[in-house]
Amino acid sequence: VSRFEGVTMAPPDPILGVSEAFKADTNDVKLNLGVGAYRTEELQPYVLNVVRKAEKLMLEKGENKEYLPIEGLAAFNKVTAELMFGADNPAIQEERVATVQSLSGTGSLRLAAAFIQRYFPDAKVLISSPSWGNHKNIFNDARVPWSDYRYFNPRTVGLDFEGMIADIKAAPDGCFVLLHGCAHNPTGIDPTSEEWEKIADVIQEKNHIPFFDVAYQGFASGSLDTDAASVRYFVSRGMEIFVAQSYSKNLGLYAERIGALNVVCSTSDAALRVKSQLKRLARPMYSNPPVHGARIVSNVVGDPVLFDEWKQEMELMAGRIKNVRKKLFDSLSAQDKTGKDWSFILSQIGMFSFTGLNKAQSDNMTNKWHVYMTKDGRISLAGLSLAKCEYLADAIIDSYH
Ligand code: PMP
Repeated sequence: VSRFEGVTMAPPDPILGVSEAFKADTNDVKLNLGVGAYRTEELQPYVLNVVRKAEKLMLEKGENKEYLPIEGLAAFNKVTAELMFGADNPAIQEERVATVQSLSGTGSLRLAAAFIQRYFPDAKVLISSPSWGNHKNIFNDARVPWSDYRYFNPRTVGLDFEGMIADIKAAPDGCFVLLHGCAHNPTGIDPTSEEWEKIADVIQEKNHIPFFDVAYQGFASGSLDTDAASVRYFVSRGMEIFVAQSYSKNLGLYAERIGALNVVCSTSDAALRVKSQLKRLARPMYSNPPVHGARIVSNVVGDPVLFDEWKQEMELMAGRIKNVRKKLFDSLSAQDKTGKDWSFILSQIGMFSFTGLNKAQSDNMTNKWHVYMTKDGRISLAGLSLAKCEYLADAIIDSYH
């Protein structure tokens, strides 16, 4: 008998579990729209050319494998903060940003959660409803209390702006408000710039701290600067904010686990102290971050030629997703005889489309049509090709009615 009799079976992860189920399906028509990973039109994984080039350079240089400092690679931390805030941002010029390289977006969120738990033990985190499924796990495991704020209006398949503002207002003062910097996951619905202004107003009024999760910079619009506009706007208002960054999607570095946590402070002195405590939290958790992805990012962003090439490849990826989005909309509109308005698909941005399919309908997508997706009705357009749009439209229409 095992000492682990008391260990029960954990349920499969609601997102990564979808890939496991997909692998087990032997039907050729199957389509994996679960996990948000970019695929080519042939539905193959894609390594960016600039990544290959940067890796070749790294090999030629013959770099060693010694430990990085706890806060990560200095060259990476410099370029990652500049990419997020803009190199000429006063917060950077005045050295008010504490930047720590971390284990991609997830690790950055987890490090911030540990910081909140230690220094703001009475604060809770406000999370959009719905949100990326792992947000709640991250704060639960860090023992940080959280609650939902309204975000999605199923009737309009749009933003529930009034509900969002009301819930942020109704929360106790001094909460952390988790915001998706761009390409909200799973809904694909972002506030407009006027709405961002009002969100900043209430957050300031309530003495909350904005916490931006930016997993898709460059992937929403195709432009790194446009996708950082929400974050930069909050900084321009002089607010102290958290920003978690990820290079999983925009540089396709999923498995390299490369990202950063940035804390913008009012003073350089506060930034130094915050950074010292982030390092103190990181040391017993993972000691120091991995070097490979950090070198890739600093080589690509730090080299004007590679940087330009990256932007072109990003536009290409974002463009392909926009094309399948359009084709899916056209197919749905042409094939659906009920006159349903599918235009919400076009107004959503980023990798995902939130179809509005409920759990039973999502089950029908998988069981009858072999289309794998998360049960909240989210489909990843990055895993869809133009050739499969009509098939997918049939599956969605059948599942709706
Ligand atoms: N935040 C959001 C909103 C995401 O969608 C993701 C990736 N799916 C992440 C964070 C983190 O991804 P990673 O840890 O690979 O950077």
